[in-house]
Amino acid sequence: MERAVIVRSLSCSSASVNRLFFRSYHRLSRSCPSFPFHQHHKRLVPNVSRRSTLCHHWRRISSSPSPLYFKRCFSSLSPKAVTTSSQYASPPGIGGSQEEVAEKLGFEKISEQMIEECKSKAVLYKHKKTGAEVMSVSNDDENKVFGIVFRTPPKDSTGIPHILEHSVLCGSRKYPLKEPFVELLKGSLHTFLNAFTYPDRTCYPVASTNTKDFYNLVDVYLDAVFFPKCVEDLQTFQQEGWHYELDNPSEDISFKGVVFNEMKGVYSQPDNILGRMAQQAMFPDNTYGVDSGGDPKVIPKLTFEEFKDFHRKYYHPSNARIWFYGDDDPNERLRILSEYLDSFEANVASEASKVEPQKLFSEPVRIVEKYPAGEGSDLKKKHMVCLNWLLSDKPLDLETELAIGFLDHLMLGTPAAPLRRILLESSLGDAIVGGGVEDELLQPQFSIGLKGVSEEDIQKVEELVMNTLKKLADEGFDPEAVEASMNTIEFSLRENNTGSFPRGLSLMLRSIGKWIYDMDPFEPLKYEKPLQSLKAKIAEVGSKAVFSPLIEKFILNNPHRVTVEMQPDPEKASREEAAEREILEKVKASMTEEDLAELARATQELRLKQETPDPPEALRKVPCLSLHDIPKKPIHVPTEIGEIGGVKVLQHDLFTNDVLYTEVVFNMSSLKQELLPLVPLFCQSLLEMGTKDMDFVQLNQLIGRKTGGISVYPLTSSKRGREDPCSHIIVRGKAMAGRTEDIFNLVNCILQDVQFTDQQRFKQFVCQSKARMENRLRGSGHGIAAARMDAKLNVAGWIAEQMGGVSYLEFLRTLEEKVDQDWNGVSSSLEEIRKSLVSRQGCLVNMTADGKTLTNTEKFLSKFLDLLPGKQPSKTNSWDARISPVNEAIVVPTQVNYVGKAANIYETGYQLSGSAYVISKYISNTWLWDRVRVSGGAYGGFCDFDTHSGVFSYLSYRDPNLLKTLDVYDGTADFLRELEMDDEILTKAIIGTIGDVDAYQLPDAKGYSSLLRYLLGVTEEERQKRREEILSTSLNDFKDFSDAIEAVKEKGVVVAVASPEDVVAANEERSNFFEVKKVL
Ligand SMILES: [Zn+2]
Repeated sequence: MERAVIVRSLSCSSASVNRLFFRSYHRLSRSCPSFPFHQHHKRLVPNVSRRSTLCHHWRRISSSPSPLYFKRCFSSLSPKAVTTSSQYASPPGIGGSQEEVAEKLGFEKISEQMIEECKSKAVLYKHKKTGAEVMSVSNDDENKVFGIVFRTPPKDSTGIPHILEHSVLCGSRKYPLKEPFVELLKGSLHTFLNAFTYPDRTCYPVASTNTKDFYNLVDVYLDAVFFPKCVEDLQTFQQEGWHYELDNPSEDISFKGVVFNEMKGVYSQPDNILGRMAQQAMFPDNTYGVDSGGDPKVIPKLTFEEFKDFHRKYYHPSNARIWFYGDDDPNERLRILSEYLDSFEANVASEASKVEPQKLFSEPVRIVEKYPAGEGSDLKKKHMVCLNWLLSDKPLDLETELAIGFLDHLMLGTPAAPLRRILLESSLGDAIVGGGVEDELLQPQFSIGLKGVSEEDIQKVEELVMNTLKKLADEGFDPEAVEASMNTIEFSLRENNTGSFPRGLSLMLRSIGKWIYDMDPFEPLKYEKPLQSLKAKIAEVGSKAVFSPLIEKFILNNPHRVTVEMQPDPEKASREEAAEREILEKVKASMTEEDLAELARATQELRLKQETPDPPEALRKVPCLSLHDIPKKPIHVPTEIGEIGGVKVLQHDLFTNDVLYTEVVFNMSSLKQELLPLVPLFCQSLLEMGTKDMDFVQLNQLIGRKTGGISVYPLTSSKRGREDPCSHIIVRGKAMAGRTEDIFNLVNCILQDVQFTDQQRFKQFVCQSKARMENRLRGSGHGIAAARMDAKLNVAGWIAEQMGGVSYLEFLRTLEEKVDQDWNGVSSSLEEIRKSLVSRQGCLVNMTADGKTLTNTEKFLSKFLDLLPGKQPSKTNSWDARISPVNEAIVVPTQVNYVGKAANIYETGYQLSGSAYVISKYISNTWLWDRVRVSGGAYGGFCDFDTHSGVFSYLSYRDPNLLKTLDVYDGTADFLRELEMDDEILTKAIIGTIGDVDAYQLPDAKGYSSLLRYLLGVTEEERQKRREEILSTSLNDFKDFSDAIEAVKEKGVVVAVASPEDVVAANEERSNFFEVKKVL
């Protein structure tokens, strides 16, 4: 869970620009139509995690850091690191002496290779005493990465690896405080800080551009994994894993625990249940047959003894793989490591942790499972079905793997890809499930299916999948499609744009994917040769001869097929709650009075420990930079503002490795209010409807062949001190320097030539969007709650909610019928949106590339602008809509809640100061973390201050509580008033905030944030002023801020996305506190 995701999970929320005062979230909209599939691709592309709460449990469906980030299999190897110079400087410290240094420190060099693909020298070492393996990658990338990975295959679904992943970061030998991890979140310049649990391994990565900061992070992580306090501390295990909670012997006992509630949230999402079922059924005989994250029904079976044993067994250097990457001194890396590794003796962990391959079945298998659906909801089209294959009984060679990745892109990678298209066009279901090829585990898998299916159509979906695959094997692929896929893949390899995800981490995850199974860790980093040989083979024998045998061998003729059917069950959620209550009642009945008194005492003791701050001397042990290490000026982005043909053009001269990034922006303010909810579908239609001369498949292939992708999405935000919101449509695209004419031609084509005539396709968009929104309600209820609160508090929030909140879902449900009954009306509304948006007036263009490319592009841009229709400046509409500001409970079938409360603090007279960034971050990482997460048992709790609108909001994530959490929020002002902190803690808070402000950005993200600042009216002077205010934040600022946020307690509006039982209970306790809205 991470905060950036939370607020940004609405595709067009004003919240998405909340903090882009300082930084942008390199974001091509979540509905980036060129790559929508890969967004939901089930692979580990963990989210960028600045605001991460601990842990990113491996999920089958995860969102990628950047929508244009290509499928993992091809991702992110790249030539250029990130400096603005094209000169490759020799990394420091590489020389003849390095081997001697390694030898002296106890390391043996196993292999050394130059990796041309990422202009790096990579050396593999073995620590002689323990056998720990170390990959030391040197290059000129300042965004340094460290990671340590252990093989941690579980034997059951108690979630041991996951709970351990959380727990080791709760204090260690050298850093004996409650949560060093949180101290690092608060006070370091990390560009990445998180941990992940996979089905068979646990990864601890950190990254920073500041060398001193980087080594601090490395030291805290190494101490955490090898010498954690949690193995001697039952209370940490209880807090992060599970425990019985009892405040008073007369009350009911409940289960608490951070992982317990995190996994309850996971098990409330049908897509997640489906993914887990499929994996477990496909691997009945090895470790993948259980859930490493933990099944909430099984987690309470875990004992502290088993937990400790697991750590002793697997968190050992003999079972470790360690990664270093970047421009720091390679000798220093080994020096730091040897200090830790030398204190261990070799053990047999690496034998014990080996993952055994699953043997292939001789017969297909079918399983049926129920998932929790809303009571009384329409269950007719709510079934899901997914076909899954285990492709091979052993790992594939790199070339086959690459070919299968390519095949996956051809079949599913774009809206035009045939398997994807045919499934969606069948109208048998609303949206795709299963994410195609999954190659991150020992054996690759392939999954595909549909959700939103009628029970009687399940068979038809299965037949359609099989028949389509057979047809593709028989007929092969369109040459244009092959060319488009090839270009997309090559573009993304060359560009290596990992968004705000460090490049070095992306490489590490690729390398580890093989290394963890004792295969060659260098091989996955070198894509050039297998790619060229695949290309040559396609050129020589044709694509059919390459791909048809793959489909036949690995899918059609492969008996290891598991079909999973999921049925909606409106009673499942309440049945599970009842079962849990029954267990707890039995536990209570079995206890004597003394036992109960003891449990109440233990509950009290745990809470007291959680709520007692660490002593200052313990906090001081976590190393921190000083304010002298912090640059006084904000990060500069070169920006030239000019005009071409009467249109404002912003140009950023940055080294982009021959790629042009451009955004064409249109003002949305002349749009009629009632058309707003249609805007997201309008954007999708531009890319996926086709023109008079080209159907959408041809149009998509053309985009794939000529560019690196185009996306279209709305962007809204409040503007500080202004009534009228900032509301735009952004067309974002990228292309190689030699293709800049093509990109503007294509943008012109989608804006002006696309026809809104395909009723069936449009109907599919509506169904897909509906399915996506329903999924979001269960999985990202905090985003839904945040949007809803914003919609009650300001116009920009209202607009965003119309296009991505509960209102949007309601709109989609009516629209679905309207498309059938009045298609002409819908079609002409789309045309009307185009007419009011697309014109030279209200247009703005942003371009990021090197100076030469920018100059060369101007003539094409000028031609593009000439072709745009001009029109009389129309009256801007004054939208003044809000949702009624009552407290609302949005009821969904879930086992955990999302609780929000918000108010506009500018209305209290509060004047923005940079200190607000420091303070809200501090509140999130201390008060809310301690009360909502640590003692409340929620997976996350945080606050957010939108400096543009003035809305200060609190939100919780996967929260077992409801009213209790609101009480914590209301206590925040008092917390600030009573706060005491020494200079050191304050400095840490300031540095952590600067870390956010100076978030690491690749050049395209720099250009994009500069554009956003321009749109929001944030000047360079203001940035400088805010920075100075941040740097000079004092304890008094904290006290002053308490008065402002008192308003949230007094006047704030509450929105919770919650389970029906909890809402009923809350309304009983506080007479009808919530207005109830049932949406699922
Ligand atoms: Zn977790």
